[in-house]
Amino acid sequence: MRAFNFSAGPSALPVEVLQQAAEEMLDWQGSGMGVMEMSHRGPEYASIHKQALEDLRSLLGVPQTHRILFLQGGALAENAFIPLNLLGTRHVADYVVTGFWSKKTYQEAHRYCAAHLAATTEMSRFTCAADPASWQLSKDPAYVHVCTNETVNGVEYFDLPDYTPEVESRLGAQEESVALVIDASSHILSRPLKITKQGVIYASAQKNFGIAGVTLVIVRDDLLDRALPICPSAFHWKSVAQSDSIYNTPPTYGIYMAGLMFQWLKRQGGLSAIEKRNIEKAQLLYTAIDSSAFYVNKVDPQVRSRMNIPFHLTDESRTEAFLAGAKERRLVQLKGHSSVGGLRASMYNATPMESVQALVSYMQDFERQHA
Ligand SMILES: *Cc1c(COP(=O)(O)O)cnc(C)c1O
Repeated sequence: MRAFNFSAGPSALPVEVLQQAAEEMLDWQGSGMGVMEMSHRGPEYASIHKQALEDLRSLLGVPQTHRILFLQGGALAENAFIPLNLLGTRHVADYVVTGFWSKKTYQEAHRYCAAHLAATTEMSRFTCAADPASWQLSKDPAYVHVCTNETVNGVEYFDLPDYTPEVESRLGAQEESVALVIDASSHILSRPLKITKQGVIYASAQKNFGIAGVTLVIVRDDLLDRALPICPSAFHWKSVAQSDSIYNTPPTYGIYMAGLMFQWLKRQGGLSAIEKRNIEKAQLLYTAIDSSAFYVNKVDPQVRSRMNIPFHLTDESRTEAFLAGAKERRLVQLKGHSSVGGLRASMYNATPMESVQALVSYMQDFERQHA
């Protein structure tokens, strides 16, 4: 019996996808081998790899100006590999800090470059976004880094296609283009994303499209010549791009699982269809929180995340009792991140509506019992 799983990551996967993986575990499509046992240079794995790249390109509508890379190391490792790949001759990079993850990114950057804080919402305890018009960009940054969905704090940017050109135009006078670099780990593939001028979009797989071990980097072609000489070759984007993400042994099973997720997303009707469901799920929970004096979400309503919903009991002394009662009803992994406390429900693409309904009805029962 499967639990109602609200894990922030690694997170719930669709039953269909797990079943297919189970069926193919010992013998992938008559090859007599499981995917974990295949050479990454053989024809069987090559077909899995190629299909995953093609499906992702078509699902997200990645234009030919951008390369899709599968790497290892997680999104966290990219905090180092981004400066190593993008600084070129420049020393400064700009950071917008809107939560736990982008703060970590900014801190790590200090090891590699003069990290400039372009904006921070820390004084609001990360309950709002930083409007691009308010960013204090430095004179000549190599790139501007933003986290478009803060997994811990539940803050999401929704106007990505609009603010990108704005940043470009503010920086437009410069000779070399300034790359916008986006950490989309916890909402990539949750809705259509118009990829035009963004320099880099990166994400770990285990939130919204698979299992831990795969890191996706989508990078604009013209940025591949900026790596510093000390950039490790296995994480040198240009080398990885030139070998179609088989520079060394890639995380083969993780890429296979991501491929199954891409096919599942296509069967759901693609990203517009999945967005509609994600909106419905998020609205159901936010409405339950907002219509009760028992629960509270502190995030600016304009930028509340559809994927990660942190909330508190107004009487925080009841949090442990809430979690224990939830577990009895098989509602699991609802504890808030240690930096925020309280509760958090993460509801990625694979979270069914029934999980959210079960949570809301438990919240109402808990309130009735304790009011
Ligand atoms: C989870 C997460 C990360 C870190 O991912 P790892 O795979 O653990 O390295 C970075 N950024 C965001 C927004 C995340 O949600």
